[in-house]
Amino acid sequence: MNSSSQTRLTGGCQCGAVRYELAQPPVRACVCHCRMCQKASGQPFMAFATVKQHDLNWTRGMPGVFRSSNLAQRGFCKDCGTPLTFKFEGEEIAVTAGSLDDPMAAPPTVQYGVESAIAWCATLGDLPRVRTEDDFGPELVARFANYQHPDSET
Ligand SMILES: [Zn+2]
Ligand SMILES: [Zn+2]
Repeated sequence: MNSSSQTRLTGGCQCGAVRYELAQPPVRACVCHCRMCQKASGQPFMAFATVKQHDLNWTRGMPGVFRSSNLAQRGFCKDCGTPLTFKFEGEEIAVTAGSLDDPMAAPPTVQYGVESAIAWCATLGDLPRVRTEDDFGPELVARFANYQHPDSET
C-alpha cells in the first residue's frame, strides 16, 4: 500500500461538524456485539477500525465524549449524534467504520462481545435485498434532498 497522503483515510459525522483523518491505515478492524455498543449506537452491533491514538487527527470540530465505564470513553458529534470513536485503556483508539468516508477500507477480522450478539445478525445475509431507489420509487427519488455531509473533505 502507498504511504502517501493520497491513501489517508478520512471520515466524520453525518452533519460534517466533526471531521478526522487517519495518518496511518488501521492496524485492525472488528465488530462488537456487546450491550454497551448496542446502546451507544442504538444498533445491534458496532464496527470499528483501530489506529494508534496519535494517528487520529481531528480536522474539523471535536467530538463530545461519554465515559461509558471506568475503562472506556466514546466520542460522538454533539450536533448530530453520530458515534465516532471508542477509546479503551492503552495507546489505541477506534473510529466507527460507518463514519469512514470509505467504510469498505476496514473489513472486520474478529467479532467481540458475542455473548450479547442478537441471533438474527447471523442470518441477515438470507434476507431479501432491496436497493434504495427501488424502495423509494421514482417520485420520491425525484424530490429527495440529501442533507448529509459528503464522503469527502469540503
Ligand atoms: Zn455531526
Ligand atoms: Zn462493544
